Amino acid sequence: MKKIAVLGSTGSIGTQTLEIVRAYKEELEVVALAAGSSVAKMEEQIREFHPKVAVMWSEKAALDLKERVSDLPVEIACGMEGLLQIAVMPEMEILVTAIVGMIGIRPTIAAIEQGKTIALANKETLVTAGHIIMPLAKEKGVSILPVDSEHSAIFQSLQGFKRSELSRILLTASGGPFRGKSREELSVMNVEDALRHPNWSMGRKITIDSATLVNKGLEVMEAKWLFDADLDQIQVVVHPQSIIHSAVEYVDGGIIAQLGTPDMKLPIQYALFYPDRRPMDTKRVDLFELAQLTFEKPDMETFTGLKLAFEAARLGGSMPTVFNAANEKAVSLFLDRKIKFLEIPELIQASMEHHKKVDAPNVEEILQAEAETYEYIRQVVEKE
Ligand code: NAD
Ligand code: MG
Repeated sequence: MKKIAVLGSTGSIGTQTLEIVRAYKEELEVVALAAGSSVAKMEEQIREFHPKVAVMWSEKAALDLKERVSDLPVEIACGMEGLLQIAVMPEMEILVTAIVGMIGIRPTIAAIEQGKTIALANKETLVTAGHIIMPLAKEKGVSILPVDSEHSAIFQSLQGFKRSELSRILLTASGGPFRGKSREELSVMNVEDALRHPNWSMGRKITIDSATLVNKGLEVMEAKWLFDADLDQIQVVVHPQSIIHSAVEYVDGGIIAQLGTPDMKLPIQYALFYPDRRPMDTKRVDLFELAQLTFEKPDMETFTGLKLAFEAARLGGSMPTVFNAANEKAVSLFLDRKIKFLEIPELIQASMEHHKKVDAPNVEEILQAEAETYEYIRQVVEKE
């Protein structure tokens, strides 16, 4: 039995992780679950998967949950303390980090310190604290297994090869719902338009990030840390069919790619059973039905979010944190219909220009850069 814990169990990645557990009950055991505020969903999950510990972010939600499951022997905790308690549970082997945002940094670090394997979906953690996480994982001999589909594809394509033979990473992007649109067209796009992703069904925040190409920017930074690559070695390739999930080019020019239908369950399952593969009941790629796979260069002049991501990555230090925090805040303002679509990259740019970069920030400094960015945006938006 592999014992796993899922942070963000009620979300898109979290529920798909539990679908895999359901299909492999004899091999996977859930020892802990954590979520933000969806108490009813958490109760259902506790009744089905019998974790030892369940955590809700808010104290109120945790109290409510405690009452609902008082007939069960599950321990209920809340807040960061609860997340950290899960991260260091002695019996837990794999921590699936499927929460959104920088809240994942501290539990991920705590779990690595205890030698736990990390199945990492929470890309914001690597974007902002990759310089802390990757060396620590190396020191502790811990595997960081990517759950993000592109990074799983790169990871799968790297199996059996030496890292020194790698020449380039070809990071594919669907282009999102607004591929091919002009800035003028983008300026009038609303929340519903942006949430209509052509290929993938995901959480709301990451769906907006796909529309701005900010998600691809975060993934460039994620790839840089996961695969110890230079930014110049990472080429973003727009591939609207989302069949090639990413590829690597070797020094001899050979390209190895991983293909599949757009279904997050494959990368999640690959991480849970790595280095083995298990059968999966999913739609298969039919090359004859597809007939063609197409590729385009990303349009960074229109989708400036991607350009800003490369800039933040190049500057390094606390700048990726500011990029990420500004984006988080701007996306939530956009989802609340308080700002327009193109104001998302505008706020990211303004925040980056406003910020005084800190080199090699520690966790405190990362969280401070986040808080300062939130405060800066609040002031800018209030002034308008
Ligand atoms: P989601 O919004 O669907 O789910 C987020 C989960 O985190 C929920 O269970 C929520 O309750 C929980 N959560 C939120 N705040 C919390 C807090 N403070 N404490 C504890 N739990 C909290 O998000 P998602 O789409 O599943 O994405 C999760 C992560 O995976 C993100 O970092 C995203 O970028 C990444 N990712 C997602 C996909 C996808 O297909 N959805 C693909 C690649 C990467
Ligand atoms: Mg992805």
